[in-house]
Formats: sequence, C-alpha cells, structure tokens
Amino acid sequence: MDRFIKADYHTHTVNSHGKGTIEENVVKAIERGMEVIAITDHGFGQPFAGITPKKFESMKDQVAALREKYKNIKIMLGVEANIINKKGDVDLTEEQIKEMDIILSGYHLTATEWKIPALFNMVCPALLWKMGHISKAQIEKNTKTYLDMLDRYPIDVVTHPGYLLSLDYKTFGKACAELGTYVEISTRHEMPSKEGLLELLDTDCKFIINSDAHELDQIGRVDYALNLIEELKIQDRVVNYNSSEIKLRSKS
Ligand SMILES: [Zn+2]
Ligand SMILES: [Zn+2]
Repeated sequence: MDRFIKADYHTHTVNSHGKGTIEENVVKAIERGMEVIAITDHGFGQPFAGITPKKFESMKDQVAALREKYKNIKIMLGVEANIINKKGDVDLTEEQIKEMDIILSGYHLTATEWKIPALFNMVCPALLWKMGHISKAQIEKNTKTYLDMLDRYPIDVVTHPGYLLSLDYKTFGKACAELGTYVEISTRHEMPSKEGLLELLDTDCKFIINSDAHELDQIGRVDYALNLIEELKIQDRVVNYNSSEIKLRSKS
C-alpha cells in the first residue's frame, strides 16, 4: 500500500528542474491527505536548475494566491540552497533568507563556485566519491565546510548529507543537535546509509524525512526513510513522523 507523510518539507517544481507547477504539487499533496507542503526549488547559484530573484517574486505571488484557494493545507515557500565553496558559503543573501519560510541546504556539483579552489576542494572529491575513493583527510575537510556553513547561516535542514561529500557524521550530527538544524534522511539519494544513520544516532540530532520530489508522483513518498527508521525504531527522533508542525531554526 502506498504510504505518504503528512508534511513534506522538500519538493521541487518547474521553477528549478522539477516537473510539476507549484499548484500541481499542492493539489497532489492534498489528494494524498497531506497537511504541509514546502516548495523548495534549487538555490540562486545553480546555473540552469536554480531559481532567479525574478522567478522567486512570481513564486511568492503564486503561493499567496494558492494559500487563498486551498485553505486545508499549509503551503511554505523556501529554497534548497547550495554550499558553493570550502568556506561553507551558501548562495543566499541575508535579505533572501528573511523572505524564506524554510531554508534547506545541500551540496550539488553543478552549483559549485566557478573558481579554482572550489573546483579543487569540492568537485574533485565529489567525483572521486562517485568512484568510491574517500580519504579520511577529505572527510575532515568536508565536515569543516558543513560546520562552517551551519555556524554562519540559519539552515533548517541539511539535505542528503554525505551525498558526494562524505562527512564525519558524529561531528556533523553533534553540531546539528546543538544548533537546531535537522538532518534529512533522503529517499531520493538514499543518504545517509544505514551505517551512516547509526553513527548519527550516537548524537542528539533530530531527523526529517522528505521526498525531494522532482515529479508529482514522488510527493509525500519517503519509502527508503520510512523503512529505515521503522527498522531501527527511531520514529521519535524524526520531527515529521508523527507531527506536521516543526520548529524552524531560521524562525527562532
Ligand atoms: Zn538536493
Ligand atoms: Zn532537492
């Protein structure tokens, strides 16, 4: 039987490289009995796939109209920002952060800053990760990048942690717990793996399970994450397992 979560805090639309319009995502979520949907397209620094300030203005207008039209669902408008360099910079300005209902951030190869150090420190390790070459020294560097990002930006959710850039999950999880940032268990990228999740469980971090839907049928579907958390019996560590309301770091 198909199972859907009540609150999906990570979905894409045609405004980045998803297939559905904002309204189509919302309607699908309502059909599936959901209570919350967040529209979180790729960040401003991602060529071709990312949103633009102009697009975002139109998205705000669309969401405002949809909130009037569909009152039985909470519609949030945020972003899946990009970590763009080793320093942990993110492709968002302070002004843009204020305009977002929720801020997700993750690493995406194509959004890496187009400068030699970033290419060397992020793209090369990510390509090596794809080939299965992961060094301990690189894991430490990646972890520092994520921690520096979390220190400087009020990130609510880190998406698919460990995908492309491997992390020292214990150090990362501890920082997320201290700062109030949720660790996403990504069904789309199957990240973290079960082994990674076991390491994160040694810390006090909280998890969030999202679809990262790029197509309408994926909205609310989190099979990988559900299977894993039920197998490990860690439902109480997952903020949107039983509840659709979550506390956001960027709003506190
Ligand atoms: Zn992503
Ligand atoms: Zn995504």
